[in-house]
Amino acid sequence: MTTLLALLLQVTPSMALTELTTDVCILGGGSAGVGAAIAAARGGAEVVLVEKQDRLGGTSTQAYVCNWEPGPGDGLCREIYDRLQARNAVCVVKDHNRARQQGPFGLWLPDPEGTYEQSLTRASTPHPNWRACVFEPAALHQVVTDMLGETGKCRVMLRTTFIEAAAQGPLVVSVSARGDDGSVYEIHAKTFIDCTGGAHVCRALGCEMMLGPEPKSRFNEPSAPEEPEMVLNGISLCYRIRRREDPARQAPPEPPAQGWVKTAHVSGLPNGDRIVNPLAILSGKALLDMGYDKALEECRRRVQAHWHWLQGYEAFADFELDSFAPMLGIRESYRVVGEYVLTQHDLLAGLANQTHPDLIALADHSMDVHGSGSKHIAGDLKAPYGIPFRCLIPKGWQNLLVAGRCASFSQIAASSCRLSRTMIQLGHAAGAAAALAARDDASAATVDLGLLRHSLFADSARNSPHTSRQ
Ligand SMILES: Cc1cc2nc3c(=O)[nH]c(=O)nc-3n(C[C@H](O)[C@H](O)[C@H](O)COP(=O)(O)OP(=O)(O)OC[C@H]3O[C@@H](n4cnc5c(N)ncnc54)[C@H](O)[C@@H]3O)c2cc1C
Repeated sequence: MTTLLALLLQVTPSMALTELTTDVCILGGGSAGVGAAIAAARGGAEVVLVEKQDRLGGTSTQAYVCNWEPGPGDGLCREIYDRLQARNAVCVVKDHNRARQQGPFGLWLPDPEGTYEQSLTRASTPHPNWRACVFEPAALHQVVTDMLGETGKCRVMLRTTFIEAAAQGPLVVSVSARGDDGSVYEIHAKTFIDCTGGAHVCRALGCEMMLGPEPKSRFNEPSAPEEPEMVLNGISLCYRIRRREDPARQAPPEPPAQGWVKTAHVSGLPNGDRIVNPLAILSGKALLDMGYDKALEECRRRVQAHWHWLQGYEAFADFELDSFAPMLGIRESYRVVGEYVLTQHDLLAGLANQTHPDLIALADHSMDVHGSGSKHIAGDLKAPYGIPFRCLIPKGWQNLLVAGRCASFSQIAASSCRLSRTMIQLGHAAGAAAALAARDDASAATVDLGLLRHSLFADSARNSPHTSRQ
C-alpha cells in the first residue's frame, strides 16, 4: 500500500515518505482539533495533530474570529480562558452600542466588571446581560501549544496538509499529508478525527454529506423551506484596526466594490486594538463558485470599501487598518451525515425534553444563518440543548470521528451550534472517546458511553472554576 500511496502522491526519490504510527490522528487544529488533541493526550493516548496553517486555533486565530460569543463552555474552555488571562490576553466584553446610537454596528468593548461565568449563558439571559470573551489570536495559539506540550504525548505538525485517506471496509487504515517543505507522511492510527472544518477527510473517504439547506421533507424541521435554493451562510474577512494619532485614511478600491452590507460586529482586544467582522461580506455560494483564492481577493476589495465606510464614524476616526485576517472566515460548507443528525427539533426541545443517552456537549446560541434565508428561522432559543455523541460518528464508520462545524447537524442546527466553545466541547468528547478506544483496544464509534461521559464530567470538574478555585 505504501508504494501505491507514494505513486498516488507523486513522491519522488528525493522526497522521503515518512511513516508514523500513533493511537489518535487528528486532522485540523482549529477549536475542535485542539480540544480533541488535548483531551486525547491527557487521556493517555499518543496523538498526532496535523494542521495546514502555521498556527493552531483555526478560525479563532487565523480568521481573527477571536471572540467567544455568550454560550456554554466550561471545562477545557475555562482552562484556556484562565491561561489567556494569565497572559493579559483576554477580556470580557459587552455591547457598548446596543441602541446603535454610534452607528449600525455592534461595539463589544471590555467590561471591567464582567466575569467569565456571565459569558456562559445566552438563551436564558436578557440581552443587556450578554457577555462575550475576546482574546489575542496569537496568544490562543501559544496557550494551546503549551497545553499540548505539557502532555508530552502530542506531535503537532504545522504547515502540513491532509491529502488522502485509505480505508478497508468501515475502518480507516491511514491518512497521508504533505508538509510545506515537500515532505510526505503516511500516518497509521487506531482512531482518526476529522476536524478540518470542511470535512476534507470524510469527503475523501466517501462519507455521506450534506450541503446547503435541507428541504422540509428531510427532517420535518419547522423552519425548513419546502424547496430550498442552494444558499450557504455568508463568509467574512475579518480585519484588525489600531489606534493612531494621525491615522491613514482608507481609500476605496478601484473599481468600486459592490455587494457588501453596511454593518459590522466590532470587538475590542485587550491591548486596545479592535477586530472588525464585516459579517456576510460575500455569499457562501460565491466561495464555492469562485474558489478560495478568487474569493479572498474579492473579499479584500470589499473590506477596503467596508473600512472606508466604517472609518467615517466617530468611534473609528482615530483608528487605521492594521491587517487583514490571513484566512477567510467560513461559517458553513460540507456537513457529515452521522449516526444521528442534530436538527431544529433538538434545539427547540431543549435539554429538559431531549431523551438522548449520549449527550456530550451543550449549546444555546440562536439560529443565525447569516444571509442564507434567516427570514424562515424562529428567533432565539429559550433554553440550552445538548448534542449527542452520535453526531460525531460518520454513518457506518468504526474508527473515524468528526468534530467541528462539519459534524452531523442539519443546516439550521449548525447555524446555532457552530460557536467556537461548542466546537471545543465536541473536540473534547471526540478526543476522550479516542483515548478510551486506544486504552481498551476498542472502536471509537462503540466506546462505552458511561465511561465517556464520566471522563468528560471528570475533566470538567477538574477544570471548573467551582473546584479549581477552592
Ligand atoms: C466570520 C465568522 C464569525 C464567527 N463569529 C463567532 C463568534 O463571534 N463567536 C463564536 O463562538 N463563534 C463564531 N463563529 C463560529 C466559529 O468561529 C467556528 O464555527 C469555529 O471556529 C469552527 O471551528 P472548527 O474547529 O470546526 O473549524 P476551524 O477553526 O475552521 O478549524 C479547521 C482547521 O482545519 C485546518 N485544515 C483545513 N483543511 C486542512 C487540511 N487539508 N489539512 C490540515 N488541516 C486542515 C484549518 O487550517 C483549520 O485550522 C464565527 C465564524 C465565522 C466564520
